Amino acid sequence: MAKELKIWMNGRLVSQAEAVLPVNSAAVFYATNVFEGLRAYWNEADGELYCFRLAEHFARLRESMKMMRFTVPYRDMDIYEAVREVLRGNEIREDVHMHCVAYVAGAGLDSTTPTGLYINPRRRGRITEGDGLRCCITSWQRTHDNAIPIRLKCGANYQNGRLATLQAKADGYDAPIFLNQQGTVAEGSGATFFMVRRGQLVTPPITSDILESITRTTLIDAVAPALGMDVVERDIARTELYVADEAFFCGSGYEITPILSVDRFPLGDGGVGAITQRLSTAYMNVVRGTDRRFPEWRMPVYKPVTVTV
Ligand code: PMP
Repeated sequence: MAKELKIWMNGRLVSQAEAVLPVNSAAVFYATNVFEGLRAYWNEADGELYCFRLAEHFARLRESMKMMRFTVPYRDMDIYEAVREVLRGNEIREDVHMHCVAYVAGAGLDSTTPTGLYINPRRRGRITEGDGLRCCITSWQRTHDNAIPIRLKCGANYQNGRLATLQAKADGYDAPIFLNQQGTVAEGSGATFFMVRRGQLVTPPITSDILESITRTTLIDAVAPALGMDVVERDIARTELYVADEAFFCGSGYEITPILSVDRFPLGDGGVGAITQRLSTAYMNVVRGTDRRFPEWRMPVYKPVTVTV
């Protein structure tokens, strides 16, 4: 069996069993936490493990904490070092996923202190073993910005995704796609949605009750333009999905995961689309550093670096 990975928790590397929170903490009882899911990729040629876009993940973590009105007693520099420490401490020389979680340990709905932070590295493969996902439009609605904003990456938000995911599976699908209160396409339970229609790459705008995804930005700003494609950010109607040529989810965890059908309507020829495949290959080359561009997005774990933030 693979060795159990240690967790960085408030300045120390601890075993999974030691990383515990009080049952009456807001973190446990109300899911008062905010978090980031991120990946680090092993580059065999460099003999190096690269964490992808840590600065953007930490910036989003801070924005989530701001909206939740709590903070943690760590500077970004400390969190960078903690990530390197937990990956080095576990001697990780393979692709790995991590959760970086900031939480309120105090009790009560309105408690904002004391707070803590842990970084939990996890072995996690690709999202699907098969070619892609068979999705449905869920009858659950994405929570609205004026209810529990999805821009805020808090644990509690994922109950919306849980309801939809379990429903989708009960109905024989792999994963749900959410519509928002306006009735236009939002995103998946833990991933951003893109489609290809008439050769155009389209994704919903950041005002459509979605998380401001770092992978989405990476595709829009870098990966798609490098392949000669522009991304159109606009509202997407439900029925456009049924006649789309291709679609995929993207995210730090999902990477690029093809969607093969929606509500049993096959997209294109029902296989992985050519544009999806090209974007996926290009994205994986960037995150792993086999594509040498955008070095500022890859933080080495083993090579000594000076982080100035
Ligand atoms: N939407 C939701 C709800 C998510 O949980 C995620 C994963 N963090 C994404 C979108 C994709 O975001 P990112 O590309 O920053 O991982």
